[in-house]
Amino acid sequence: MALSEFGLIERFFCQQTVKNTSTRLGIGDDCALLAFPPGFELAITTDTMVENVHFFAGTDPEQLGHKLLAVNLSDLASMGAKPVSIMLALTLPKADEGWLGAFAKGFLNLAKRYNVDLIGGDTTSGPLALTVQALGLVPQGQALMRSSAKPGDFIYVTGLLGDAGLGLKIKQGYHCSDPDGALKRFNCPTPQVETGQALIGIAHACIDVSDGLAADLGHILQKSQVGACLDWETLPISAAVQGYIAATGDWQLPLTAGDDYELCFTVSPEKVAQLTVPCHKIGVIEAQPGLQLRKSGTVLPLEMKGFEHFY
Ligand code: ADP
Ligand code: MG
Repeated sequence: MALSEFGLIERFFCQQTVKNTSTRLGIGDDCALLAFPPGFELAITTDTMVENVHFFAGTDPEQLGHKLLAVNLSDLASMGAKPVSIMLALTLPKADEGWLGAFAKGFLNLAKRYNVDLIGGDTTSGPLALTVQALGLVPQGQALMRSSAKPGDFIYVTGLLGDAGLGLKIKQGYHCSDPDGALKRFNCPTPQVETGQALIGIAHACIDVSDGLAADLGHILQKSQVGACLDWETLPISAAVQGYIAATGDWQLPLTAGDDYELCFTVSPEKVAQLTVPCHKIGVIEAQPGLQLRKSGTVLPLEMKGFEHFY
């Protein structure tokens, strides 16, 4: 017999017991109830993934569940927030039990890893679209905002740039002799949750690299009304991406490809000694607006552009 809307929610999304101390009431009533400790602010974000726009039709549902939650937790991480709960709005063409079981597994496994409760959502029928709202806590007045970069700050990223972009190229038909790492980065990104929290009180501005470094750092520059110069030689680039650049000449991939979900942040030189998270220094914030790249002895202007939905 086909699953009803309530049967579906009960079967796939209610397995998680309430664990987070903020959750007073989880799934099953008209609203969830949350209680937060004093001295914190609530950080809230939402992200939607639409079939054929954000993911290919036929994408492995377990990986999709993981990625949907990961991209939302990444937004919390970029503000320095600790995730507490999530809501899930599903629009499904049909109630396919195999698909739902795998999707819920990928989604809830990641939630469990960060002690995040699924506290509610909505389930409707229609073309496949998945939305998460994520809630986190950040110490009052200390969130890492895009607007806080200062001239003289050093710019850092937490990990490799361009591998997820290479994963996408591989899915689109590019032949790579060692595709596994890049595909994993594209399909199963790791949100930098602990790192974001560890940057509170140390970093000035922070953003997660979802649309490409040039575009996302560009948001920091715009909001902070500053510029930046990046140093090509210091960008963390994997052997696979280096191989791709050597084969195609497309050296801009690590600067323009999205989906890496590393954090890009700025730190004043006085605070650099306090940095304990794994990261790579890639450039410096300047007073003069604009984004530049130092490469092979010359300084090139870079467009602050990445993936956009509407042109
Ligand atoms: P209402 O009609 O009052 O909005 P629903 O019938 O949509 O309530 O949902 C019943 C309960 O199940 C609510 O607590 C809601 O938050 C939860 N819920 C619905 N869909 C999901 C989902 N996909 N994941 C988690 N919880 C869900
Ligand atoms: Mg509803």
